Amino acid sequence: MALRPYIVGNWKMNGTRAALAEARGIDRIAQRHPGVEVAMAPPATLLQAMAHEATHSVIGAQNCHQESGGAFTGEISAPMLADAGARFVIVGHSERRWQHNESDSLVRAKAEAVLAARMGVIVCVGESEEKRQAGLAEATVTAQLKASLPLVADAAAHLSVGYEPVWAIGTGRVPTVQDVGEMHRAIRAVLVEVYGEAGRGVRILYGGSVTSENAAQLLAADEVCGALVGGASLTAERFAGIIMAAAALVEA
Ligand code: PEP
Repeated sequence: MALRPYIVGNWKMNGTRAALAEARGIDRIAQRHPGVEVAMAPPATLLQAMAHEATHSVIGAQNCHQESGGAFTGEISAPMLADAGARFVIVGHSERRWQHNESDSLVRAKAEAVLAARMGVIVCVGESEEKRQAGLAEATVTAQLKASLPLVADAAAHLSVGYEPVWAIGTGRVPTVQDVGEMHRAIRAVLVEVYGEAGRGVRILYGGSVTSENAAQLLAADEVCGALVGGASLTAERFAGIIMAAAALVEA
């Protein structure tokens, strides 16, 4: 793995202040593995507290609004997240795309808002089971990516891409290592097409039922530079195995 591995936990709508103990535990594991960039995206209610305490891990958000402020009840803008201590934002997660009808163009607008607020952005893409069965996985993901990527100057320097097959999220099912490698190579080709040589420095993360049991295999796949982890990031004990699998690859 040529790029520093990036292991990102997405806590989704889970966790109250009691979960800060887990975040502290994760931060201590990150301290022991400086070769790995460890990040957590808690619910917005925990963002400030986690950002205040984290010293060896990076704290970010799961979503933002595309506008910087205004009459958008219940929404949070990218500058507000940065002010609360966020250093990155995940945009285009499939749960946002499907549950909230987020289009590629909206995802692009959000990604550009995140970059304007001087944070890193993780743009998520992934195919449905239907598209994979129809042999359209690569075409779906590359089209989604081309229409979602931020197009502002220097975007590639602050960008990561999360490849998350929708059918693998929270299901315990994972694609084969070969399928993951093929998709990540296709994503890399799009990144180079869009950003030129700078596209080679963008980290591409695999997400979808990553656990401490399968992490080593998935992280070793071609062009996989890290993982986006849901369920297995909620406790320090479970997340530790994934961080250690990434560390083993760089420390070997
Ligand atoms: C996710 O939601 O980003 C995710 C990958 O979830 P899980 O690891 O639980 O499949």
